[in-house]
Amino acid sequence: MHRGADHSWLPAKVVVLLPIAVLTGMFLSGAMLLARSEALSTREIALYIVGSGIAYALAVLLLCRFGLRRIEKLEQMGLIDPLSLLPNRRALHDDVQRHLKRQNNVALALIDLDGFKLVNDHHGHFVGDMLIGDIGQTLSEICGATARAYRLGGDEFAVVATGPLAPTILEGLCRSLLMRLATPVALDDRKIVIGASIGITRSAGPTNSSELLRQADLAMYASKRGGKMRCTWFVEEFDRDLETNRVLDDELRRALTGGELQVFYQPLVDACTRRVVAAEALIRWQRPDGRALGPDVFIPVAEESGLINAIGLFVLRTACTDALEWDGIRLSVNISAAQLRNPEFPIALGQILEETRFPAERLEIEITETCLVLDPVVAERSLRLIRSFGVDVVLDDFGTGYASIGFLRQFRFEKLKLDRSLIAEAEGCESSRAVMLSSISVARAMKMDVTAEGVETQSQADLARAAGCDNLQGWLYFRAMPAAELTALLRRTHERKIA
Ligand code: C2E
Ligand code: MG
Ligand code: MG
Repeated sequence: MHRGADHSWLPAKVVVLLPIAVLTGMFLSGAMLLARSEALSTREIALYIVGSGIAYALAVLLLCRFGLRRIEKLEQMGLIDPLSLLPNRRALHDDVQRHLKRQNNVALALIDLDGFKLVNDHHGHFVGDMLIGDIGQTLSEICGATARAYRLGGDEFAVVATGPLAPTILEGLCRSLLMRLATPVALDDRKIVIGASIGITRSAGPTNSSELLRQADLAMYASKRGGKMRCTWFVEEFDRDLETNRVLDDELRRALTGGELQVFYQPLVDACTRRVVAAEALIRWQRPDGRALGPDVFIPVAEESGLINAIGLFVLRTACTDALEWDGIRLSVNISAAQLRNPEFPIALGQILEETRFPAERLEIEITETCLVLDPVVAERSLRLIRSFGVDVVLDDFGTGYASIGFLRQFRFEKLKLDRSLIAEAEGCESSRAVMLSSISVARAMKMDVTAEGVETQSQADLARAAGCDNLQGWLYFRAMPAAELTALLRRTHERKIA
């Protein structure tokens, strides 16, 4: 059984030792008083002293035996997580500090379950709790006597190994866990799919348990970003990245208020008539230093800091204002996962529609599947509200993730956008073409419109058209352009039509 560090153990002992000291004092002073008493005979005094001596000895024995044991148990309970029966976060800090004090090498892994929230949402908290218990047991089995597993809370676990081979041993244990999780966890008659993202670090030079946990946390996030179900070692570069992102976020904040952010529009054409039918709003950052930075670099930073909420509303408001005069042209705006998770987003969207008087039926929001996988319950509620305004929902970048037919049925998107990579690969690869064709058939069956993104060549356009895509978007036709340029383009097309 786990026992805490000595410093936390001492006050508990005092709770038992103090009454023993008081009893001893009382017993000795009582004996002395009796010895001086002249009212009692020597035999009576001896009898009293022996009798109270036995009572005193018994009291001390009971206090020591049961009191200390009980307190030890209570101490242990404060260091044990009741759900997984693994030592908890406090125990981890105590253990790591103790090993570091003894100058032992320490390697620490932080394990965060992927998809645990989904398990709670789909199967209920009871099953979620059972799963935590099961994972705790699996971890204990894998660690055996070579390492110790901990539950830090929620769906977060940790493993600590010590000694000269600690890093190698720990990495091996983490890989074993990932292999075990590759097959679904069987709970009663259910098979639960659960993943894990792991970050590992090791003590090098003077450090402490909080610092090791912080490093493992950064490494764990790198695993999540890298596609989950993997372990990543902490490297100092992560600290530098963190600093870079902090600086970038500050600059972005200033850019938003300083008017450096602009919205460009990339037209979508009808696959048959090749006429412009819609435009996708794409954010651009005109940095004063002239350094170009694409949204795929700064949007994730804004998502992490929460700045995406303000940026997203700026894009929506600007786009709805710019597109007001593009008669008959639909407007597509990208919405990131963090925005959709914000319960105030649909209300803000409704306000912008009212403010700008942009017709809701001409607006569509583009979301990616991560928006929905991370928090399907909130997402579904928000999407319902957004649809009630008359706004359509488009699934962007289809073909890059795991979106299944069940997923498409659950969320019922009005439109599907096939990712550029799928279009590019379909040209030369039989199986990619098959995926593209079957995706289009599924979308058709579900009455969804399909857009092919990133069409760069005529042969890609021909392929997408033949496969049944409704709209095409890509550099073959147009790149993203400022609002005024699109206004001029639409005017020219309109004049040509009249002439
Ligand atoms: P996305 O929504 O999938 O947008 C399409 C991206 O593909 C755009 O990149 C577009 O310029 C690019 N593209 C279009 N046609 C072609 C082509 O033929 N070839 C190639 N190579 N690329 C093409 P961009 O503007 O850099 O945006 C990247 C991503 O950043 C977007 O992917 C979207 O996820 C995100 N993003 C852009 N603007 C916003 C925004 O206002 N809000 C949010 N939340 N995300 C945005
Ligand atoms: Mg998009
Ligand atoms: Mg896309």
